[in-house]
Amino acid sequence: MPILVAGGAGFIGSHLSERLLRDGHDVWCIDNLLTGRLSNLASFKAQARFHFRQWDVVAGLPPELPRMDRVYHLASPASPPGYKVHPVATMRSNSEGTRHMLERCQRDGARFLFASTSEAYGDPEVHPQFEDYRGNVSSTGPRSMYDESKRFGEAMTMVFTRDHEVDARIARIFNTYGPRSDPHDGRLVPNFVRQCLLNEPITVYGDGSQTRSLCYVDDLVEGLVALMETPGTTGEVVNLGNPEEHTILEFAEVIVRLTRSRSTVVHTDFAVGDDPQRRQPDITKARAMLGWNPAVALNTGLKRTIEAFAAELGLPDFAEVA
Ligand code: NAD
Ligand code: UDP
Repeated sequence: MPILVAGGAGFIGSHLSERLLRDGHDVWCIDNLLTGRLSNLASFKAQARFHFRQWDVVAGLPPELPRMDRVYHLASPASPPGYKVHPVATMRSNSEGTRHMLERCQRDGARFLFASTSEAYGDPEVHPQFEDYRGNVSSTGPRSMYDESKRFGEAMTMVFTRDHEVDARIARIFNTYGPRSDPHDGRLVPNFVRQCLLNEPITVYGDGSQTRSLCYVDDLVEGLVALMETPGTTGEVVNLGNPEEHTILEFAEVIVRLTRSRSTVVHTDFAVGDDPQRRQPDITKARAMLGWNPAVALNTGLKRTIEAFAAELGLPDFAEVA
């Protein structure tokens, strides 16, 4: 079936596009390359069923786009340094971009999936975070261009589901990592893996006692497809993430070990303000509704990521790490 992946040249979008092609679908990928990379498409862009168009979703959708059956909206900067550099573009992608895609879904009778985020819970006072928790978000804080625009995108998605009969659902994605994430995008895994491979200092923001729960990208893609395709998910909000929670210092230790690095930790105060202190998804709903459960262990996922980063950074000897 014809499927649109907005943000398909990004980290998650490229893995999703590749998976959908493998399943035999026709994939239309649109991306303005604000934070994505054409190199992410290299291994499958020659396939006849793959179509790429450089395009900004804020401007609507490309006129030549045929009728779609499915629309995945992943088009938004996602790393804190990325959305800090592109605040207005981030807000417009998640608001105007979302509206354009929902209107298109209404016209085409297509299903819609909005890629929201665990940041919708802000700096949570409830742990772990479950879908009915309304969050602790600052509408004026330094992360608000991202958090609040995702919340607005969720609200827009629900309006079209309730009042315009669009078959839409919302994925609240928790921290995801893997090959093809940009080694320079400033997120935890890209920074620590790059720093360790190059034997540079590991930049831990604050004391490193804050926590995250990291999901490998293949698991996440499996969850996104399941959420789109499982009957009964219309109008549902579902957390997708791996509940295994660690402190930032623990992640640093694991990555040092797996890369056999000489790097040591330096503590800095570089975090994009209001750094959430604890984050762990409650995935009871995803398990029950989708039969979905993350399967890739942290060590395995990190080894694959390290191998990919080493190749990209021109350090092929690290292939042996796997
Ligand atoms: P990414 O930056 O690698 O991918 C986002 C893609 O969207 C990029 O290719 C970028 O060029 C494109 N894009 C941005 N604005 C656009 C616009 N206006 N028009 C067209 N394309 C545009 O980030 P990612 O990690 O792959 O994240 C994908 C989606 O998942 C995002 O919506 C993000 O908010 C969400 N998400 C990701 C994570 C994570 O841990 N990776 C966590 C929560 C939510
Ligand atoms: N972090 C860090 N050093 C880095 C990058 C990130 O200590 O070089 C921390 C950051 O302060 C946060 C966590 O790692 O507590 C996850 O950060 P990331 O930017 O990946 O995503 P977030 O979950 O904050 O959106």
